Amino acid sequence: MPIRLLPPEIVNRIAAGEVVERPAAAVKELVENAIDAGARRIEVTLREGGLGAIVVSDDGAGMSRDELVLAVERHATSKLPDDDLVNIATLGFRGEALASIGAVGRLAIATHRQNDPHAWSLTVVGGVKSAPQPAALGQGTRVELNDLFHATPARLKFMRKPGTESSHAADAVKRLAMAYPDIDFTMTEDGRVLFRGPAASRDLLDEAGARLERLASVMGRDFADNALAVSATREGVRLTGHIGLPTLNRGNAAQQYLFVNGRPVRDRLLQGAVRAAYQDFLARDRHPLVALFLDVPPDEVDVNVHPAKAEVRFRDSGLVRGLIVGALRHALAEAGHRASTTVSAAALGSFRPGAAPSYTPLRPSLPRGFAEPLAGFESPSAPPGAATESIGNKAHPLGAARAQVHETYIVAQTADGLVIVDQHAAHERLVYERMKQALEDGGVQRQGLLLPEVVELDEAAARRLVERSTELKELGLVLESFGPASVVVREVPALLGATDVQGLVRDLADEIAELGAALSLKERLEEVCGTLACHGSVRAGRRLAQGEMDALLRQMEATPHSGQCNHGRPTYVELKLADIERLFGRR
Ligand code: ADP
Ligand code: MG
Repeated sequence: MPIRLLPPEIVNRIAAGEVVERPAAAVKELVENAIDAGARRIEVTLREGGLGAIVVSDDGAGMSRDELVLAVERHATSKLPDDDLVNIATLGFRGEALASIGAVGRLAIATHRQNDPHAWSLTVVGGVKSAPQPAALGQGTRVELNDLFHATPARLKFMRKPGTESSHAADAVKRLAMAYPDIDFTMTEDGRVLFRGPAASRDLLDEAGARLERLASVMGRDFADNALAVSATREGVRLTGHIGLPTLNRGNAAQQYLFVNGRPVRDRLLQGAVRAAYQDFLARDRHPLVALFLDVPPDEVDVNVHPAKAEVRFRDSGLVRGLIVGALRHALAEAGHRASTTVSAAALGSFRPGAAPSYTPLRPSLPRGFAEPLAGFESPSAPPGAATESIGNKAHPLGAARAQVHETYIVAQTADGLVIVDQHAAHERLVYERMKQALEDGGVQRQGLLLPEVVELDEAAARRLVERSTELKELGLVLESFGPASVVVREVPALLGATDVQGLVRDLADEIAELGAALSLKERLEEVCGTLACHGSVRAGRRLAQGEMDALLRQMEATPHSGQCNHGRPTYVELKLADIERLFGRR
């Protein structure tokens, strides 16, 4: 068959398949155009998940008659004035969205440029455009797309239920709305509001506050109430945004948003960097909520990787990753012992008077009767009663220990409420942080066992432990082979105190089996130290003296990240006096 140049309708239809793969993609392109046109208000309406109709109206700059005629042509754009593909300041630049959209549905555009006497309208059906007509419309542009994919039944068959399509479309609008808190967004479907993002109110003068308001309208109030601000700059790359406390977490990463120069992007780099920053605080299957905004010099990033412009490539991705990990860790460390309010809200919920007695402890209680000495934390030297002075003292937000209940929880009185601490979870966190610190400072102190202890295992487990013995020694555990199926332990980390060596070594063997041979234990410090720390911690079921309880509280205050255990569970919950009064109907 002879080679021929394809007619433009076919070219457009092929390209359209890339740009407009589903209604959400058309919605995204149209809203981006409205943002680029400088709109202050954008309204999106859908019918049948966008397959029936998509209407996007804006109050932006509008187009002249001639601009309108050109706009629907392929590769027609007003956004690359100097043919400069490097310094792209707008969301659009490829000049193909309207042409593509016109190839996959019935397109009607009305537009009114400021100072023009009236509006103009035009239609594109099956890739064929009509002559422009005078029309009635206030300043701005209204784009209507009907019967999406009516000409490509094959594509139509791939569409999901309208509900699924409209939630994808809403997701696209929300992502853009997060990056533009000054613009008022409304999205409806058949009169039902899918999303509302009111423009930031005037009294929210600071930029971060306005943005957090908008983030709350997309990610929920919980997020705004439990978010930490992030701000850092490295080599001209600026990172701002908000991240959730570790105790506010989810089963998937859907609530992690990244924006590059105002453009929502999906990027593996982000997920990897976020995981690395939170790895000390969350189990591997839990995910934090984050919204991060990168401002990158245009020549440091390529946005022209994919027709939908959803992917970017950084010139120096190591720099970006380092910036994210560093800034997030810093923000989390600053948060100190803060645990999310959702935790106390949930606790309050289960405290409601008259509710069924469905109270479940925050962690399963461990067997009673452990009586090991409290390793590594000493009673305060202050005289008894001194702790009482810490009530009302801002320096001691966790207050003064009042009682221990069920040999598991410490109840403390604070300036304006009370705190319940899970003694095991809290102490585990303290030991873990201390081990990490010790490692950084050049090694974990070891303590020789009076009687070396032999631990019987299976052959594979014994071999795995012995193979890792050099690394384990660095972590403070000295062991060697003892016959084919056992090891002998000679020294343990001093931090752990008198610990159950048998249990510790078995757990470590399991841990190492799970981690596989490829990873060094140092890389997996989190898990290994976690296992060690757990064994060195005050058990639930151990009675604590007053001094020991207060010492634990003071150490929590002084230790970064002590608001959650190594698995993202809280180590304490706080109830404000006001909440307690509410429970009793005093307020
Ligand atoms: P691109 O956005 O990549 O330039 P499009 O096909 O989306 O390509 O749009 C083509 C041109 O039409 C834009 O460059 C812009 O000049 C004009 N345009 C599109 N939508 C609007 C709008 N809502 N308001 C004003 N001008 C618009
Ligand atoms: Mg565009």
